[in-house]
Amino acid sequence: MAGRIFKDEGLVLRTRILGEADRLVTLLTCGGGKFEAVARGARKMKSKLAAGIDLFTRGEYTFHRGKTWPIVTGQFPLERFLWFREDPELYPYGLYLAELTDRLVAGEEPSPELYRLLLEGWRLLGKNCDRVLVLRAFELKFAHYLGYSPGLHYCAGCGSSDTGGFSPREGSLLCLECRPADYINLDSGTIALARRLLETPLQQVAMIRPSGRQKEELARMNNSFFAYHLDLGELKSKRLLKE
Ligand SMILES: [Zn+2]
Repeated sequence: MAGRIFKDEGLVLRTRILGEADRLVTLLTCGGGKFEAVARGARKMKSKLAAGIDLFTRGEYTFHRGKTWPIVTGQFPLERFLWFREDPELYPYGLYLAELTDRLVAGEEPSPELYRLLLEGWRLLGKNCDRVLVLRAFELKFAHYLGYSPGLHYCAGCGSSDTGGFSPREGSLLCLECRPADYINLDSGTIALARRLLETPLQQVAMIRPSGRQKEELARMNNSFFAYHLDLGELKSKRLLKE
């Protein structure tokens, strides 16, 4: 981000009230990673900025480098993921992707893969699909792009391909011989599902039809893996999804 004025395409992950009339917007941008920016006067009725800085918006933004935060000086909404606002059942799914991204992306390191992943995830969740499965695929791919790809092919202990479960601490599959205390038994179908979700482009995940048991096991695997390596803490969306 050189110069005082810069432009980028971004996805709004979060907005907060700042002072009397401003908003602080958390954006994942295509070229500049994640950062917060001030939208001055965005809470006023006639604000030209207000429209483009809502949660679940993709927009083009112009920033002026401020002392503390960049200041949004222009915006042009490109896409609004309105289904998350209009359908209370969809809202926690969209929010989960936003919260996960906000918690795990550390700063202004450019991450175009994560940007595309979130964009595709928000688009896909608005369509008729297995949304729970989309969340699992999103988690696996997100971890992969952050450099925490779970080992889903061989036992981390001996290299055997005859694996029967997963160790969150090892972040890998293991065989029965090598299993540690935190070993989670997994059906071979669940292991195949995890691999497929990691390797298949997100848009094609909708074509996969796993069993209920496989989805439950995968949720347990992902949860424990994240809890060990990528702590998300308390998320509003997770609470809403449970309800
Ligand atoms: Zn082994």
